[in-house]
Amino acid sequence: MVGGAVATSDAYVPGYRFDLGGSAHILIRLTPVVEELGLQDYGLEYIDLDPLFFAPFEDGDHFTIRRSVDETCDQLERQYGEGDAYRRFINDWKPFSNTVKDVFLQTPSPLNIGRTMRRGTSTALPWKEALQFILRPYGEVAAHYFREPKIRAALSWMAAQSGPPPSEPMGSPFLLWHPLYHEGGIARPRGGSGMLTVALRRMIEDHGGMVFTDTPVSAILVGNNGRTEGVQALGEAITARAVVAGTHAVDTLTCLLPEAFRPPEARNLRVGNGFGAILRLALSKPVQYAVTPDPADNLAARTGLGLLCPSIEHIGAAYGEYLSGRPASDPPLVAMSFSAVDDSLAPPGGEVLWLWGQYFPYELAGGASWDAIGPSVADRFLDVFERYAPGTRDNVVGSLFQHPLWLERELGLRRGNVMHLEMTLDQMFCARPFLGMSGYQTHVKGLFLTGASTHPGGGIMGASGRNAAGVVLKALDKLR
Ligand SMILES: Cc1cc2nc3c(=O)[nH]c(=O)nc-3n(C[C@H](O)[C@H](O)[C@H](O)COP(=O)(O)OP(=O)(O)OC[C@H]3O[C@@H](n4cnc5c(N)ncnc54)[C@H](O)[C@@H]3O)c2cc1C
Repeated sequence: MVGGAVATSDAYVPGYRFDLGGSAHILIRLTPVVEELGLQDYGLEYIDLDPLFFAPFEDGDHFTIRRSVDETCDQLERQYGEGDAYRRFINDWKPFSNTVKDVFLQTPSPLNIGRTMRRGTSTALPWKEALQFILRPYGEVAAHYFREPKIRAALSWMAAQSGPPPSEPMGSPFLLWHPLYHEGGIARPRGGSGMLTVALRRMIEDHGGMVFTDTPVSAILVGNNGRTEGVQALGEAITARAVVAGTHAVDTLTCLLPEAFRPPEARNLRVGNGFGAILRLALSKPVQYAVTPDPADNLAARTGLGLLCPSIEHIGAAYGEYLSGRPASDPPLVAMSFSAVDDSLAPPGGEVLWLWGQYFPYELAGGASWDAIGPSVADRFLDVFERYAPGTRDNVVGSLFQHPLWLERELGLRRGNVMHLEMTLDQMFCARPFLGMSGYQTHVKGLFLTGASTHPGGGIMGASGRNAAGVVLKALDKLR
């Protein structure tokens, strides 16, 4: 099937459609990609989620973050006296987050980044103060803005989705782009996340392109003149003026290229040790949260991304276990039950419930194997969820647990890293995949890189493909 880590399948539990990779479409909504390619004409229909987030707590408390900043502030003010703090946080970082988004939509170079930052009056704060925040761990920045530990926890847990923990210096941009959630929203393609890549396939084919899903490339062909000549697939040479590799950079640069052309830097790419796992559940009944007995509140709760995380320390504890090679014993969860807004995902009356948890190492301490411990770790996810929605276990009619080894085996995500390479400053912007190869062009003429291994990294955004396309078109024009 098409799509890699953006795909939806009905092959696991009859009548239920499970995403196999990314589910929350956030960053792509801030790009012109969908409109430029006309994907809405090929079956892509986005459903906007509102509330964006729902944060329940075991003491019976809960809050939502709405698409509207005003509504969110009103609620946080009523509940915690934190409305002004939320507004200040959004206002302080809105210009910065917009600038970051603009940087994502460009080929990264110090000049481009510098120009965009200058043009975009990149923060509302004096630059020295802003820089201090940007260089900090996001857990500390959340604690600076909010007194209420529950708000700190929810925002930090969302920031943790790219991988780095709340204590990581220079990790704060993962929190500081929070204003973008209000701006672009969070959406779901009707029919499942994979409808994005299905629409892309239809669009390509409609324009005379061909898409092969059963033809793995075994080598990139390079001629004696150092120029790519195409690819080798299933024993056949397919010639081309240009090859654009969306494969993992480690595959492209250390396996598919002929040995003489493999750059030494590619051997040092940091793939990390996995970080997340996801339990996909098919339920016979909708989720019923303990904190939302009212049906309308419960529908809102099922709509937004459920941020099930009691505190920042809780994320830290899970990360501590991960560092010692053990799967988190009490993982914070993101709960997704999108059948609340899309009835094509489950049979009438049923529900899909997807629980993403962190942190889970690919390589386990003491020689433990995922094949052996997978079922008991999956059970932990349900144990945690039961604390927020008791009785859920009784409604499970089918499941799929995607642990880091599953992600590598089935989706080719090396060491279970859903972002391909670690999303830390040493491998971001001009340094993704490594310094000197961040412009989508490679040392082999006619070979280009794209995808999560390149700027701006993993996640459903399309920005890397769009940036790379610009570079390829320019290069082909020159050739002509
Ligand atoms: C479980 C999970 C949950 C996620 N949740 C979210 C989310 O909610 N929101 C979000 O924004 N992001 C999320 N992500 C991350 C996001 O989905 C990925 O970062 C992104 O889809 C990567 O896309 P890509 O095309 O760059 O790479 P990939 O999806 O890895 O695609 C690479 C493609 O190359 C193909 N390929 C590999 N080797 C060869 C070969 N030799 N020949 C031919 N083809 C080859 C693969 O089959 C695959 O189709 C999630 C990912 C996972 C796995």
